[in-house]
Amino acid sequence: ADAEIGLIGLGTMGSALALNIAEKGFPVAVFNRTAQVTRDFHRESGELASRVIPTESLEDLVAAIKPPRAIILMVPAGDPVDQQIKALAPLLAPEDLVIDAGNANFHDTNRRANAKLPVRFLGMGVSGGEDGARHGPSIMGGGNRADWDRISPILTAIAAKAEDGTPCATWMGEQGAGHFVKAVHNGIEYADMQMIAEIYGLMRDGMSLPALRIAEIFEGWNEGPLQSYLIEISGKVARASDPHGGQPMLDVILDRAGQKGTGRWTAIEAQHLAAPIPVIEAAVMARNISARLDERKEIQDRFGPAPQPCIIEEPILERALIAGKILCYAQGFAMISAASEKFGWSLPLPEIARVWRAGCIIRSSMLNDMAEALTEHPDRNLIMAPAFATRLEDSLPALRQVVVEATRQGHPLPALAQGLIWFDMMRTGRGTANMIQAQRDFFGAHGFERLDGRNEPHGPWGS
Ligand code: NDP
Repeated sequence: ADAEIGLIGLGTMGSALALNIAEKGFPVAVFNRTAQVTRDFHRESGELASRVIPTESLEDLVAAIKPPRAIILMVPAGDPVDQQIKALAPLLAPEDLVIDAGNANFHDTNRRANAKLPVRFLGMGVSGGEDGARHGPSIMGGGNRADWDRISPILTAIAAKAEDGTPCATWMGEQGAGHFVKAVHNGIEYADMQMIAEIYGLMRDGMSLPALRIAEIFEGWNEGPLQSYLIEISGKVARASDPHGGQPMLDVILDRAGQKGTGRWTAIEAQHLAAPIPVIEAAVMARNISARLDERKEIQDRFGPAPQPCIIEEPILERALIAGKILCYAQGFAMISAASEKFGWSLPLPEIARVWRAGCIIRSSMLNDMAEALTEHPDRNLIMAPAFATRLEDSLPALRQVVVEATRQGHPLPALAQGLIWFDMMRTGRGTANMIQAQRDFFGAHGFERLDGRNEPHGPWGS
């Protein structure tokens, strides 16, 4: 047995991760359900082939790994993970470790962690897509701390490194904590993408800017406070042209967004936690609306498209996006705090911001500042950390201007608008839920609390 670790599932992510592990000097035994994939993978692993040990049965895989063994699963989330654990269990010793590195729903990871499996088990969120897996992903681990510590030398070696050299691989807490943090990451990813798409839409439809001009604007923003992977790739996709005809690539892509459901999980979980994350929820909703192509066309035929124009200066758009981003992350981190309390996880907010700084899809320079702000003020909402309170004050008028003007002209900015609405509600010391309470008491005799503290079991509503 020569391998330091095993890996099952040589699809997009698994094969990239296996090459990354081998490249960092760790011999890795690999297995894939379809054996031909394993053979092809080994043949194509080039100079890393000597550190890749191909196996064609689970028995051979297990025999190839040094005990106590660690085996990463990179198969589709759900039943395939349970099937693999079941198939492996009789072949493994109790101290061997199975690591589910797919996009599991954290409830499944909680279930597996509590199921008294005959082997050790970790749930690990991996972000960064294929390129991240190959050259350095962001890794969010959950499960038993000692199990994490045992394999962390490999995980920190393969993880992305932040600018200050820190590896983006962190143990988040017990059970499904890692997969939970990954889910929120994905929710934020949906929201970041949606807010960029909204500003793109305004530039395209409200300002009639061509894709190449939009590319320039994104490229410019990528040099400033919005510097991030998603702004960078948005510039690149806006600059690309269609090889079959030469038009801007963006102009020939159907406006129907796909989704694997992880943003939806985050939104559903937020509802269970009573944690308001309206920017993320709006992003999920926007993907769902995008899927209703025929219905949208029908409604446009009946009511007409949004009237143009809606011209807004570029720095105002940039500042609106900055404000939207701060509000989105403030909501995401607050959701993580709520989960931390509910599940007893002590999720480390500054560490989470740090682990997202490199390797993952939402990596951005602003996350450096968020990590700092959350270190200084771990128990307060991000927007109350002085550095972000100031930035928000500075950028909020731009967000309000953009949302108001776009809305007046019928250009939808659901995620950006929800950021603003959340802020306006949160800054309202006396809201309108007194009306809700009175209504509830009227029809349901639920009672209510009074401002003066007197007890009022029921209001004087008459019959
Ligand atoms: P792929 O579809 O590329 O690969 C899936 C792999 O799992 C293949 O090796 C396949 O084997 C194997 N597999 C499928 N079903 C079973 C099963 N029932 N039993 C055993 N093996 C099975 O998927 P990805 O690599 O994209 O994704 C893997 C995991 O990583 C998923 O959970 C995904 O959500 C997650 N993930 C993906 C990211 C991405 O950007 N693609 C990013 C982060 C996480 P075979 O060759 O036999 O079909």
